[in-house]
Amino acid sequence: LWDDTLAYVRERVPRQVFETWFAPIRLEALEDSGAKIVVPNKFFGDWLGEHYGDLLGDAIARVRGGPKVDVSFTIEKPRLEESEQSGEVVGTVPKGTVAPRGRKHAHLNPKYTFGTFVVGGSNQFAHAACMAVAEQPARAYNPLFIYGGVGLGKTHLLNAIGNHVAERTDLRIAYVTTEQFTNEVINSIRYDKMIDLRRRYRNVDMLLIDDIQFLAGKERTQEEFFHTFNALYEAHKQIVVTSDRFPKEMPDIEERLRSRFEWGLIADLQAPDVETRIAILRKKSEDEGVTLPEEVVQFLANNMKSNIRELEGSLVRLGAYSSLTAQPITLEMAKTVLRDVIGDKKKIIALDDIQEAVSARFHVKIADLKSRRRSKTLVQPRQIAMYLCRELTDASFPEIGRHFGGKDHTTIMHACKQVAKALEADATLRATLETLKEHITRG
Ligand code: ADP
Ligand code: MG
Repeated sequence: LWDDTLAYVRERVPRQVFETWFAPIRLEALEDSGAKIVVPNKFFGDWLGEHYGDLLGDAIARVRGGPKVDVSFTIEKPRLEESEQSGEVVGTVPKGTVAPRGRKHAHLNPKYTFGTFVVGGSNQFAHAACMAVAEQPARAYNPLFIYGGVGLGKTHLLNAIGNHVAERTDLRIAYVTTEQFTNEVINSIRYDKMIDLRRRYRNVDMLLIDDIQFLAGKERTQEEFFHTFNALYEAHKQIVVTSDRFPKEMPDIEERLRSRFEWGLIADLQAPDVETRIAILRKKSEDEGVTLPEEVVQFLANNMKSNIRELEGSLVRLGAYSSLTAQPITLEMAKTVLRDVIGDKKKIIALDDIQEAVSARFHVKIADLKSRRRSKTLVQPRQIAMYLCRELTDASFPEIGRHFGGKDHTTIMHACKQVAKALEADATLRATLETLKEHITRG
């Protein structure tokens, strides 16, 4: 039953959502009163309940047959054996003797701490996972795999873990980019120093490795990393990896290595929502001593959506410009100084893209979407397509009507209302639409 339930869910949520939120859970008990599901921690349960509780209840009900099921979450009890062992490892590191060495070799960026990281909806899960690992190395999640697009805070969080641990413990920490690691492997081969390299990496308590996607295609380095990984993992040492891709999306990395990345927890960083962008701008401008008028904050937050590094870069540029010209920052100045970065980069979604995506998702022809045929299998996909056109573009009702074979604007309005109503009642439909939207907006 559980496998079927998961299969049902898998078809209805984006793959990454499934891997992150559904792969780690299991069904503990199913009674008439409800289903009990085991999750790794409280935060996980809260999030899952809020976002996908309905869908889960729905899925179980459909697979089992019968009325909708209430879902509750319980937290996974730590496996005793494991925590005892890792406790021992952490405990036996003699205090005061290893710290200087650990720090010297850590190469951590002191600016990237949890204190300077702004938490919002788009990154709170990754942040919580990193905090858990920093508080309890090798006991919370191992390995921890952080993934997310460029400039969303992977490197920052990885350093934050290192800094947190370095401040509070004497654990030996190695922070390394995959590029550095690759160079070290190459040099070790060239100068016959492989044993040194192995000793160096296998003696740490915590390995933080950044941008692991760069291992793609580098067989020898992968091999070396694989053995390092195994040695550390078996010794209950913490490993944290970042990547701009999901393990399964790295085809040039050996399967045995990819599957290891999935042993622990995979946490993703999403593009920040507008509140988070504003919070980041306020915090950074304060930290940098730049006075940013509210309208400039709004302007930046509304125009730089996908990348926190760019957001930060704009702030720095504005600050520099303002101090060089000895003028206060204004909206006018922001528009001039940043015109090259802000230009019209927004992806324009065409009505055709939407029709295409809907046609593929529901296996109906585009011509049928535009037709007047009223067969059952056509009506809902057609209405969904119309609804998405309204939602994802600036097109007016009459424009959309023209694009659907010359329909009246009232038909489109009616369709939008119907879909909105259906969405309220149907969690599965909501999930389907989310996936579709993601598909369309990503192109
Ligand atoms: P990535 O490694 O994912 O490409 P970085 O960690 O280098 O991204 O982040 C890019 C820049 O944005 C860094 O300067 C980082 O400090 C900043 N940044 C990212 N996320 C946040 C956040 N949530 N709060 C504050 N600064 C952030
Ligand atoms: Mg990075």
